[in-house]
Amino acid sequence: MTDTALHSSTDQILTELHEWLTDQWDPELTVGEWWERLGLAGWSFPILPPNAYGRGLNRNDGVRVAQAITAFGALGAPAGLGLMLAAPTIATHGTQEQIDRYVRAIVTGQQSWCQLFSEPSAGSDLAGLQTRAVRDGDEWIINGQKVWTSNGQKADMGMLLARTDPELPKHQGITYFAFAMVQPGVDIRPLREMTGRALFNEVFMTDARVSDDAMIGGLNQGWAVANTTLANERAGLGSGGGNSAGGVAVPGTVGGDLERRAGDFVLPRPGASTNGNGAKKGKTRSSTTLQAMQSDPRLLRELAQRNGAVADPGIRQGLAELYTWSELGRMNGLRMKAAREAGRDIPGMPNISKLSMSHIMRLSRDLGLRIAGASGMLHAYEPDGREVIVESTGEPTLPIVTEMALMAQAPSIYGGTDQIQRNIIGERVLGLPKEPNRDRTTPFSELPKNV
Ligand SMILES: Cc1cc2nc3c(=O)[nH]c(=O)nc-3n(C[C@H](O)[C@H](O)[C@H](O)COP(=O)(O)OP(=O)(O)OC[C@H]3O[C@@H](n4cnc5c(N)ncnc54)[C@H](O)[C@@H]3O)c2cc1C
Repeated sequence: MTDTALHSSTDQILTELHEWLTDQWDPELTVGEWWERLGLAGWSFPILPPNAYGRGLNRNDGVRVAQAITAFGALGAPAGLGLMLAAPTIATHGTQEQIDRYVRAIVTGQQSWCQLFSEPSAGSDLAGLQTRAVRDGDEWIINGQKVWTSNGQKADMGMLLARTDPELPKHQGITYFAFAMVQPGVDIRPLREMTGRALFNEVFMTDARVSDDAMIGGLNQGWAVANTTLANERAGLGSGGGNSAGGVAVPGTVGGDLERRAGDFVLPRPGASTNGNGAKKGKTRSSTTLQAMQSDPRLLRELAQRNGAVADPGIRQGLAELYTWSELGRMNGLRMKAAREAGRDIPGMPNISKLSMSHIMRLSRDLGLRIAGASGMLHAYEPDGREVIVESTGEPTLPIVTEMALMAQAPSIYGGTDQIQRNIIGERVLGLPKEPNRDRTTPFSELPKNV
């Protein structure tokens, strides 16, 4: 397709979306009603294929649609791991019946999802997972423990990886289930982080149950299915955290937002009145928005200009370094986009983007705290406390700087650690030899385990 043809098809999509929003957006709808309209019209996650409540758009156009919904002043799609990971995975490996059961509930925000992959002894070595699924008639009995389960406390469903056959080599005896989180035998315990939030949880499953027809992709085929989820995770992180249109409303029945007024969740746009009266006081920005603000070098430059730290040549050098890394990230993003539009790929680029994003977050942490000086030691866990800090220091961005400093460790771990990204680049892009092991031929039951 030529550049002109590409642009005109994007323009057509955005024109159609604008007409649809003009006709359909109503801030007086409940969140649940609005997401039902958005999802069934194929606008929640339009990169999904048409048989899975999408429009088959490419990822770039999907991002443009999400931005256009926000720019219009309507509530964005039901963001979260359901949309970013579960929906594309089920659209790829599920039956049409499963797509209609699960993906429909995701794009309309009726159900939220979490990712039940990592275990205490299976993170980087995910295929070493030990949660067991044992068949009982047309159901499976689940026993095991997961950890680092982001938003598990608000999830209706989980993408569960469990071992269904320990006598097969470790990558072969795993099955992927759509698992109901709200049931007897599921104990979800939030883990409080040093930011003061409890983003993730431990999840204990004791004789919990999942039915045979919730198996995605077939018995013992879970590794291939999980790789689709992980590929979507990397692509989502590379494009800035998935669906940036997501407002602050929480999808699913556990979060409690579905019955609330949609217009109350629309974030005010700088210098514009919203089409929905704006988000109510007390609601914080989505983590995606926060991350975008944190990695924007202007935030720290403006802080340094306001408090005089910019007079320090070391700070100016740090700002220049951060700007350079951000520009490299932006240009690599443009290279990837151009390659994709030309039907090509740049091997290793998603891994490099992830490494660069973790590096920028660490640079921002160190530089931000140097600029903030002693006031960088003040951090509040609750919105009220943050307001007190802003009032007493007169510095509106201080809570963002301290939050960024405390959260900067996370990107180098989630979605595959920095070391694992480097291993992938070494083995799959540079062709270096893998570490020798017998994992792919030895039955899982005979492999050494940590516990
Ligand atoms: C904010 C956040 C959110 C998360 N959300 C989720 C979630 O929702 N669902 C979920 O399932 N998981 C989630 N995780 C877990 C995440 O996927 C794991 O933490 C990650 O895969 C690393 O696993 P681990 O913590 O067990 O560390 P380990 O795998 O034990 O690694 C420990 C250290 O050893 C290094 N290492 C390990 N193996 C190698 C190797 N082969 N070569 C070189 N170095 C190696 C690692 O790089 C690391 O530095 C989340 C993590 C974070 C930080």
